[in-house]
Amino acid sequence: MDIAKMTIKAIHTGLENKDFKAEEVTRAYLARIKAFDQGIGAFLSLDEAGAIAMSRGIDEKIQGGEAPGLLTGVPLAVKDNLCTRGLKTTCASRMLEDFVPPYDATVVGRLRERGAVILGKANMDEFAMGSSNENSAFYPVKNPWDMTRVSGGSSGGPAAAVAAGFAPYALGSDTGGSIRMPASFCGLVGVKPTYGAVSRYGLIAFGSSLDQVGPFARTVEDAAIALEGIEGFDPKDATSVEGRVRGGYTASMLSGVKGIRIGVPREFFAQGVDPEVKKTVLRAVKRLEALGAEVEEFSLPITESGLSAYYMISSAEASSNLGRYDGVRFGYRTRDYDGFEEMVVKSRTEAFGQEVKRRIMLGTYVLSSGYYDAYYKKAMLFRQKVRRLFKEAFEVYDAVVSPTVPVLPFKLGEKTQDPLAMYLADLFTVNVNIAGIPAISLPAGFSEGGLPVGIQFMGDHFEETKLFRIAYALEQDLGLNLVPELKEVK
Ligand code: GLN
Repeated sequence: MDIAKMTIKAIHTGLENKDFKAEEVTRAYLARIKAFDQGIGAFLSLDEAGAIAMSRGIDEKIQGGEAPGLLTGVPLAVKDNLCTRGLKTTCASRMLEDFVPPYDATVVGRLRERGAVILGKANMDEFAMGSSNENSAFYPVKNPWDMTRVSGGSSGGPAAAVAAGFAPYALGSDTGGSIRMPASFCGLVGVKPTYGAVSRYGLIAFGSSLDQVGPFARTVEDAAIALEGIEGFDPKDATSVEGRVRGGYTASMLSGVKGIRIGVPREFFAQGVDPEVKKTVLRAVKRLEALGAEVEEFSLPITESGLSAYYMISSAEASSNLGRYDGVRFGYRTRDYDGFEEMVVKSRTEAFGQEVKRRIMLGTYVLSSGYYDAYYKKAMLFRQKVRRLFKEAFEVYDAVVSPTVPVLPFKLGEKTQDPLAMYLADLFTVNVNIAGIPAISLPAGFSEGGLPVGIQFMGDHFEETKLFRIAYALEQDLGLNLVPELKEVK
């Protein structure tokens, strides 16, 4: 059993055939995490006892003749902004350093019911704000493909965990690209589902109208299996969509891309895109054409204004969502203070990191009277436009393609002093959240220096099926080898 290369599917088949036990699988991952994660920083905490107990229980059931489901006995990593009952959920912030939720997020609960084994909580940018995982209050996450480079953010921990072979899949959250970007940087498949398709209950809120939970996996099939395990209506989330027939991705993705229409938006391949990224993505698009897809260039002028609108909307919502961390209701409270106001001010000053403070200030500013019309209202109008332009595109095309990130994985520290340069990395991902549509990122190839390059497919609301179909066809055609070599750190 080569644990580093295992997929959900392979583990499932092995358990079903009794080739190995769930406990052996769990122990093998825990051992690998201990050997290698010090150099990477993918996990913030492990739940060894819980994971072993869970896997033992599964083994007993399998011994007793119960047929395991697809996710039964399969370990995973969970981003540390998803509430896990009895397990610390820090959001990679000093503010929630000691927070132990009394309940599970719906997605976590659903996986537990299916017999999933949670290995631990994965690192992230503080409150999911960032594009490189350098905003974690604890430690950054290094890219398993090149440890001098970032893993991408904000779900860098879940991504690095899967890329490093610490888990076959992981859950992340995506507000403006936080699943797709680290998936792209770490050579993985990452899915941002349609807004409302997956419950947000128990996901610590950043930008509530943009946030969605989704999976990271090594293969398109695994990503489909994982999404099927977490999606669906949840009465506890008011924005959860009821009455949609979902799932069935693993069956429908096999039907190929003949006749599928793919739009190539000119603006997503323009200035600012690294030539190696552009070349690799366009080569993959050519492969799809050879497989029978109809490819056409068109104009979708939303990239730069979309970025501005995203940072205003997400910061506005964040400033409101983070109001609850006042030293009373949730989180850290300063030690010495004189009166209520000083207590609140000192608690927030001491426990929030720089980026979080920057977003709260930006959000408060764009929502303040006098500036509301000039900024927030304008951003909301632009949001309508983005939705409309995507709708129009999907009247013509089944999917729209772009690079996931305009640049290659950059060096640790390279962009930390320049927030605007960091924000630019989100250029091609944010509009998907603004419109609420689904998107998938998968590896398109490698740069000359051996760094992964991701390709993104965007689809109409609730058209995940088409995205899986295209992604699967491309993945099978490219046949990339996606396991990085790791060095043991003692
Ligand atoms: N990088 C973006 C930001 O910093 C997106 C983050 C996310 O999707 N959570 O806001």
